[in-house]
Amino acid sequence: MTFSEDKRQFRYVDPLNEDFKHLECPLCKDPLEDPIVEPSCRNMVCRSCFETSPEFIKNSVCPICSKKCETIDQTTIPIFITKLLDNLRVKCKVCNSEQEIRRADFTNHAENFCKTQCKLGCGECLTKPQVQSHNQICKKFPVECSAKKLMCKWTGIREDLEEHEKKCIYFGLENALSFILEKLSMLEEKQNVTNSNLTTFKEKFDSKFPK
Ligand SMILES: [Zn+2]
Ligand SMILES: [Zn+2]
Ligand SMILES: [Zn+2]
Ligand SMILES: [Zn+2]
Ligand SMILES: [Zn+2]
Repeated sequence: MTFSEDKRQFRYVDPLNEDFKHLECPLCKDPLEDPIVEPSCRNMVCRSCFETSPEFIKNSVCPICSKKCETIDQTTIPIFITKLLDNLRVKCKVCNSEQEIRRADFTNHAENFCKTQCKLGCGECLTKPQVQSHNQICKKFPVECSAKKLMCKWTGIREDLEEHEKKCIYFGLENALSFILEKLSMLEEKQNVTNSNLTTFKEKFDSKFPK
């Protein structure tokens, strides 16, 4: 889990106090995110800050102590540090909610609870899981005329569909046509029954009066 500076969707509720200053990344000056330990100077740095630093990318050196650093140390960060970082309080910048969230729970908030305005512009606020079902009713969602299969080429947004269908000639035609098609299929069914009765009758007749 990494959050790059410009894309970070939260802000910290409290700045780190003196006791916790050592949990600050020497590069971005914010609380560490997914920290690594640089083997030469043994500083902890956010993984993304380290990996994207020009010193490391261009010259494979540590941006803090300037010593050679070919690969990033896989040293496991002690659990109490991870816990301290996980427990930092943040507020979401996306939904602008006043709710305080544990930093470790932020991804869950963003995926399941963070509400943003419908991108289609209907004005509703939705969580990510709600978007899919909302599209079925959103009045700004792009739709086609119900008489599309009768060649109506109209497309528009859902709130204009009713108005369109009131004056769409194809739509009016569709109702009449579906009535006729239904009648036709009933007739076909009757015809089939008659045909099969006829076959049975003919078989009986042939057996009684062989040629
Ligand atoms: Zn950093
Ligand atoms: Zn270093
Ligand atoms: Zn949010
Ligand atoms: Zn909408
Ligand atoms: Zn139409």
